[in-house]
Amino acid sequence: MIKTNICIAGAGPGGAATALKLSHLNIPCVLVDKAAFPRDKVCGDAISGKAATILSRIDPGIMQRFEAAITLQTDIWGIRFVSPNNRQIDVPFHLGYDCTKDPKQGFVSKRLDFDNFLIEEVKRRDNITFIENTAIEVFDKTDDGFTLASRDGDFHATARLLIVADGANSWFSRHVAGLEKDEKHHAGAVRAYFKNIGGMHPDGFIELHFLKEINPGYFWIFPLPGGYANVGLGMRSDHISQQRFNLSHKLKEVIENNSHLKSRFQNATLTSKITGYGLPLGSKNHRISGNHFMLVGDAAHLIDPLSGEGIGNAIYSGFIAAEQAQQCLNARDFSAKFLEAYDERVARVLGAEMRLSYRLQQLMAHPWLVNLLANWVNKNRGLIDTISLMYTDLPTRKKVFNPLFWMKMFFCKKR
Ligand SMILES: Cc1cc2nc3c(=O)[nH]c(=O)nc-3n(C[C@H](O)[C@H](O)[C@H](O)COP(=O)(O)OP(=O)(O)OC[C@H]3O[C@@H](n4cnc5c(N)ncnc54)[C@H](O)[C@@H]3O)c2cc1C
Repeated sequence: MIKTNICIAGAGPGGAATALKLSHLNIPCVLVDKAAFPRDKVCGDAISGKAATILSRIDPGIMQRFEAAITLQTDIWGIRFVSPNNRQIDVPFHLGYDCTKDPKQGFVSKRLDFDNFLIEEVKRRDNITFIENTAIEVFDKTDDGFTLASRDGDFHATARLLIVADGANSWFSRHVAGLEKDEKHHAGAVRAYFKNIGGMHPDGFIELHFLKEINPGYFWIFPLPGGYANVGLGMRSDHISQQRFNLSHKLKEVIENNSHLKSRFQNATLTSKITGYGLPLGSKNHRISGNHFMLVGDAAHLIDPLSGEGIGNAIYSGFIAAEQAQQCLNARDFSAKFLEAYDERVARVLGAEMRLSYRLQQLMAHPWLVNLLANWVNKNRGLIDTISLMYTDLPTRKKVFNPLFWMKMFFCKKR
């Protein structure tokens, strides 16, 4: 029987980041995952600047070690948006960027590699006990925390604080914390790996294609090293149910029937199965902690409702959970009341962004509006610069909801 103050269920980016942050705070923990690493996770594999920033706050050397493994990732410098009427808009993350000098704003790296890289970092730390190949399936509440066990009884532990980071299908999140699946705030997505797709951006821009038939949602092409790409599509779950969509069939159909994509995929080979998974979106408020527990990442429903990005938020919530755990240990208080501070901090750092993304998701659901905007943006360089700034600057993102901003853009001189 293991006795620990803190046990983390799940060692994806959320759980691994929590363990690493605790380790750097000199707090030992037990980190348990049902898989044996390296393991795959169905994902678009795009890792945002936010993920890199928070990992660097945990350990300033970590991203250098990741970047040194150059075969693991493609640097990305911007996003190519394609509207339903096939207008293509390239928006760099950084105005006037220089790939040779500027700090990188994001990566695409197979989750098989990225998550394993984080686990290798975990293994470097003496005060993290990492147990893989072990699913926690018994969560018994006691007066002083939780008794946790695997079904076969090989793993048995008590913890004063449980950090639940076991992903989108978390049993604990649904049945103990009460975060039900709500199809209006949930998405489904599939992804596959292809090799040799034509017409990729030379600076590794990721591509988001807003197509009439996948709405609200998008089709993506994200470049990977060695001529590979992660290709997929995702859509809100209520629309998938209403339209009885089979996303895997839809992915093939889009590539075969969309004339622009068809020519780009003509020499491409599918190198994997098409696989799918759920995305619990952060567009609905929930309580994400309770007596002796906190939820992190997908278990806390923290995926961006517009972009589907969840790795950065999983890492960020893990960082905050570790700091909150330190407060709990210092105050010897693991009560739901004391842990409200975790919910408040997560809402403070991620709430505004989630609300904006949700409103944008609702706007993007109108193909005519997306076409209108794409036509207009294409003729107006100033607007592309502003969108560029939106990635790094929340006040700029907020401006898009101010009518004065649009009037200024409309009447401003075209460059
Ligand atoms: C198709 C698709 C595309 C996506 N594309 C992107 C993208 O490009 N960029 C992005 O940022 N996000 C993307 N996301 C979202 C992203 O995958 C998740 O937000 C991210 O993986 C969340 O990390 P996590 O650590 O919370 O959970 P996970 O990465 O799911 O990790 C959970 C871990 O818990 C383990 N586990 C599960 N049950 C148990 C148990 N009972 N006991 C112990 N361990 C357990 C699992 O083995 C796993 O290792 C995408 C999602 C999907 C489905």
